[in-house]
Amino acid sequence: MTRNRLDLTGQPFFRLVALAETRHQDGRRAWRCRCTCGRELVVATSPLRAGAVRSCGCATRESARAKMTTHGGSYSAEYVVWRGHLNRARHGGPSLCKAWQRFDVFLRDVGPRPTPSSRLRRYSLKRGFSPSNAGWIPKQSNRVIARVERVRPRREVRA
Ligand SMILES: [Zn+2]
Repeated sequence: MTRNRLDLTGQPFFRLVALAETRHQDGRRAWRCRCTCGRELVVATSPLRAGAVRSCGCATRESARAKMTTHGGSYSAEYVVWRGHLNRARHGGPSLCKAWQRFDVFLRDVGPRPTPSSRLRRYSLKRGFSPSNAGWIPKQSNRVIARVERVRPRREVRA
């Protein structure tokens, strides 16, 4: 019953396309991927599917700031932000809701960071990070936050 195994061959993940299954050097399942820039690299299955690795590193170099790199790839800006908040939450900082303990759920909820200077902010500082209380806000102003607070719908329905 090999057909039940996840086959990502030919599937796109941001700039990467999975070419063939292989093994990561640490033994995990992984995929040989080609980046849109033409470079090939091996990415373990879970970060690939979660959107944690999205290019060979060229996307990160283009967006300038992110510095964290992993075997053969680069963490996305969203992943770096998420890790930072998760770490702070574990050390007494604002909490992340249960669903956001998982990066793929977090990314699906907040979407890609719109600009490199956007920050993940809480609308109400009395509550932790959650889909109804956090989102990307451009760096410049607190007024934007106040406006978002007013405009924000009373409740958000999640499927
Ligand atoms: Zn590339």
